[in-house]
Amino acid sequence: MKTVRQLFEEGSSRLKAAGIENGRQEAGYLLEDLCGIDRIRLYTHPEETVDPEGERRFNEAIRRRLTREPLQYILGKAHFMGMVFHVSPAVLIPRQDTEVLVETALAHIKDKNADVLDMCTGSGCILLSLMALAGLRRGCGADISPEALEVAAGNQAALGIKGARWILSALFEKVTGKYDMILSNPPYIPRGEIDGLMPEVSRFEPRVALDGQEDGLAFYREIVKQAPLFLKPGGMLFFEIGCGQAADVTACMAGRGFEDIHTVRDLSGLDRVVYGRIPSFAEERTCLTD
Ligand code: GLN
Repeated sequence: MKTVRQLFEEGSSRLKAAGIENGRQEAGYLLEDLCGIDRIRLYTHPEETVDPEGERRFNEAIRRRLTREPLQYILGKAHFMGMVFHVSPAVLIPRQDTEVLVETALAHIKDKNADVLDMCTGSGCILLSLMALAGLRRGCGADISPEALEVAAGNQAALGIKGARWILSALFEKVTGKYDMILSNPPYIPRGEIDGLMPEVSRFEPRVALDGQEDGLAFYREIVKQAPLFLKPGGMLFFEIGCGQAADVTACMAGRGFEDIHTVRDLSGLDRVVYGRIPSFAEERTCLTD
């Protein structure tokens, strides 16, 4: 039987040799999750042996990771806003960058009765973390993928969050009601750029969650166009945006009557969130300009 240390070093060097940047860290996560050996034990009891079943699980995970499958799909989970979300290849892996969207929206929630819609909800990470942190009584997540909504509903159950509703819908097609806040991290990668992304993304994450069509902005245009019909007077629209998209998304929102439009940067200093408010008379105005 191999020792904890041996298994860890072997796994780490295989990942490193394959050019996986955080190989050691990832091998540590796998050891912890699949063999029940945490970082502290790895250093305090390096000579402990790993049972053959644990060793098999660990090596199988390393093999998958060497194909560039993301660690989160191998472990079946991702951390977001201090919570753990189940993920499968049917959903985009929640990103730390997206936490800026949740934090920005959180700062604008006035009470627990706010009606919130998360458009393109995927794993449900945005809606569920917002509901948990703001103590919202209800919330709605829409997505075009039934498999994604299954993951989202599973996350709701696992996190014990009450009041979330899931709508299978191509954007607003099946959405009803009026909301105080609409949030969205829509697919925003220009189609021609997807294959040039890191293999973890281009080969494993769902195309439907990435593909922003020709110029990456298609979903912003459509959501901005329709959102005023689903927002209460004074309601707000919050977007996560991709690299270099702030000016276009801002112009698109301004063109549809949104006001108080702001951009927020992420921890790397990149524009990451654009949000704005619809004035009380916006509904009529949108109908007129449509
Ligand atoms: N809302 C989900 C997230 O931010 C999924 C977004 C998407 O599929 N484009 O992780």
